[in-house]
Amino acid sequence: MQNIVLFGPPGAGKGTQSAFLVDHFGFVHLSTGDIFRSNIKGATELGKLAKSYLDKGQLVPDGVTIEMLEDSVNASPDAKGFIFDGFPRTTAQAEALDAFLKGKGHAISAMLALEVPEEELRTRLAKRAETSGRVDDADPLVIQKRIDVYNEETAPVAEHYRFQNKYIGVQGVGGMEEIFERLSAAIKGLS
Ligand code: ADP
Repeated sequence: MQNIVLFGPPGAGKGTQSAFLVDHFGFVHLSTGDIFRSNIKGATELGKLAKSYLDKGQLVPDGVTIEMLEDSVNASPDAKGFIFDGFPRTTAQAEALDAFLKGKGHAISAMLALEVPEEELRTRLAKRAETSGRVDDADPLVIQKRIDVYNEETAPVAEHYRFQNKYIGVQGVGGMEEIFERLSAAIKGLS
């Protein structure tokens, strides 16, 4: 079983590349952002709680996020592997994920980190705002907040996996196909 953490700042292309990777490798894709947004749409209790955080570009508290992620993994018992997209976003989430997978006899195989300069991210998010309908893409202040939260709370998660020798940096600028080829090559290179 291969379990991939697809990592990178907001706008790095995690969602786009996840779709390619699911088609090609048959992973189950778990995006915490997508799960929160579908709960908001369905007006569930979790959605009501999450909305205030998403709209401001803040992280949803670890406790609820971790529980939601674990429930989602448990809902796909036959998965041959997972792509975790947007999770873990804090060191506490990374530790929880490691312990949870270990309890099932599994582990993270690699963190594939899409590397994209900050200026390019801002341009992409502003462009995405025209079509995504996402409240958090529409406001430059919220975009800035998400980038700040990424730098402060999420970037350290890379160290967590570097320490385990699982970090693989992937150049995230270029054509979508080209970036997909880079990610595929990295996955095929895993033992
Ligand atoms: P992006 O990577 O473009 O910021 P996501 O869809 O991954 O978009 O996340 C959108 C929002 O959902 C985040 O700004 C945050 O509020 C919330 N969120 C997603 N994943 C997590 C997580 N693992 N922990 C806490 N909050 C999260």
